[in-house]
Amino acid sequence: MQNITDEELNKLEQAHLDFISTVSHELRTPLTSIRGFADTLLSSHDKLSPEQREKFLLIIKEQANRLIGLVENLLTVSKMQSNKELLVYKATDVTSIIDCVIQIIKNQYKMHKYTVSYAKNLPKILIDTDKFQQILINLLDNASKYSPENSEILIKAEQNFNDNTVIISVKDNGIGINKEDIDKIFNKFSRIDSPLTRKIQGNGLGLYITKTLVEKMDGEITVESSTQGSTFTVIFKAATPEDSGIKKIKE
Ligand code: ADP
Repeated sequence: MQNITDEELNKLEQAHLDFISTVSHELRTPLTSIRGFADTLLSSHDKLSPEQREKFLLIIKEQANRLIGLVENLLTVSKMQSNKELLVYKATDVTSIIDCVIQIIKNQYKMHKYTVSYAKNLPKILIDTDKFQQILINLLDNASKYSPENSEILIKAEQNFNDNTVIISVKDNGIGINKEDIDKIFNKFSRIDSPLTRKIQGNGLGLYITKTLVEKMDGEITVESSTQGSTFTVIFKAATPEDSGIKKIKE
């Protein structure tokens, strides 16, 4: 076992305490709101109009969904950090997964326009398909929630013949990310606080999970952003002919 200095131990303990404090805060906010609206519904049921009752019930449901999202993300982070999760790699056609993820996302964001552009004869990539789907869901979910309704989101898949990689990008026309904030967005629980983001729900775990999964599968993730919108790009090596159809299990 590796020796650890007192200073390193203190840092680890502090990180652990910070984590508990952040998670507690993230849990308390929706729970307080659920309890408040449930209390009002119980104590003033007769005085509320049917519209008010429905509005309060919808808030309770939305806050419960927020909690479920947080708990799911926390479980993913815990599995990733314990390194006990096996990834099942298979040579995969990315376009079919992108099409499937767009259908899932469209269900939630009905007003956005999702456009795809796929290069011809795109090679397969060696990935765990569930994890790759999770990566795309996170990127498309962010592209949708940080951009106006009715705006276009462009998903491209192309090949770089120089280094034989497949490049998948998600481009939105949304609020963008300031230069000084770009490095922070991949950190655990990192959310950019601005009048534009404050109204949008999130827990700051999505991009941390996304980057960790991309890098676990030997890929790379980059982001470019301006006030006109953001483009998140993930790059994976193309599968070799020997990989085709093969399932490999790696940690
Ligand atoms: P969240 O749950 O807050 O969306 P993420 O980890 O997915 O957490 O993203 C971290 C932060 O990065 C977000 O809170 C937001 O400020 C910023 N961000 C992520 N994606 C986009 C995007 N497509 N456009 C603008 N800002 C984004």
